[in-house]
Amino acid sequence: MENLYGKTLTELETLTGEKGWPRFTAGQIAGWLYRKRVDDFNLMSNLPKEIRNQLAESHICKPIRPERVVTANDGTRKYLFRFYERLIETAMIPDNERNTLCMSTQSGCRMGCLFCSTGRQGFGGSLSPGEMLSQLTGIDEADRITNIVVMGMGEPLDNLDNLLKTLEILVSEWGFGLSPGRITVSTIGIPENLKILLDKTRVNLALSLHDPFPEGRELLIPSERRWPLSETLTLLKNNPAARERKITIEYILLSGVNDSDRHAIELNRIINGIKAKVNLIPFNSAPGSPYTRPDEGKVDHFRTLLRNKGLTVTVRKSRGGEINAACGLLSTTGMNSAETL
Ligand code: SAH
Ligand code: SF4
Repeated sequence: MENLYGKTLTELETLTGEKGWPRFTAGQIAGWLYRKRVDDFNLMSNLPKEIRNQLAESHICKPIRPERVVTANDGTRKYLFRFYERLIETAMIPDNERNTLCMSTQSGCRMGCLFCSTGRQGFGGSLSPGEMLSQLTGIDEADRITNIVVMGMGEPLDNLDNLLKTLEILVSEWGFGLSPGRITVSTIGIPENLKILLDKTRVNLALSLHDPFPEGRELLIPSERRWPLSETLTLLKNNPAARERKITIEYILLSGVNDSDRHAIELNRIINGIKAKVNLIPFNSAPGSPYTRPDEGKVDHFRTLLRNKGLTVTVRKSRGGEINAACGLLSTTGMNSAETL
């Protein structure tokens, strides 16, 4: 049975066209799926009984529920989903009035960044729009999520078509109706796909920069060789759609690797011309990782160097540490102690 959950309005219209039903039926179905969050065709009361019956014979319309959840002392929760045989994790991070969902786009990741547990786990496949949206609707806090960061497992721009459909469903009036300003997509930068994302959406962007020198960045992010940072930066400087949105430069601080004065100066130089704020991410260590986090004094010093150049700089607070829900630690290991749902 095909799952309608995750279909865009256009895809639903294709279905109603094939069945010979009125076109507006597609909008009604979308409303039930994404606005009213109904997962039973029988409850779609404005559809004729005949259509409901036909739909129920050949389709389902259910988000997938997580299998396990674990809660950290700071309230951060990590959910484990199983999409067929692929396992993925989703984090939910409460912060005063805000509840941020950290959404995954792939099981594992093909980019293989050396500091990242997801990258070191290898690749298990890309997620469909229904699987991405299930991470929002399937969790206990579904109705209280205020922000979405596409910063979980996977490289979003390596799953562009499904990402675009997911974002379309999230921001459309016929879908979830979320403001694009509440959604941030984080990427290591794949220029040709980034250009499409910029042209087709209005979501915020976070660029994982991590080292301003190509030879250094390549050691951390192997795909630098295929998709040089310089091309991504040129795009962000010149693309009119890029200049209109909120851009964050993400910079992991790895002790003795990319935290020198020379790195700060070069970082400031290469992002000159992009209206962005810098988010420093002190490295979260995973067992077996070759890197360590710089001490607080060093983080402060790096931040001050950038601030003195006139940049807006924040330091990311690490959340959900003891449950391995912090940035870069999502790897579907260590969920054994979690509560089964
Ligand atoms: N693939 C995308 C989105 C997922 S990673 C990307 O890389 O941008 C989200 C963020 O977590 C990225 O900035 C990534 O560099 C960071 N991250 C990965 N491993 C980390 C670690 N061990 N400690 C801190 N941040 C990490
Ligand atoms: Fe993939 Fe991002 Fe991890 Fe790199 S940092 S391996 S791109 S998830």
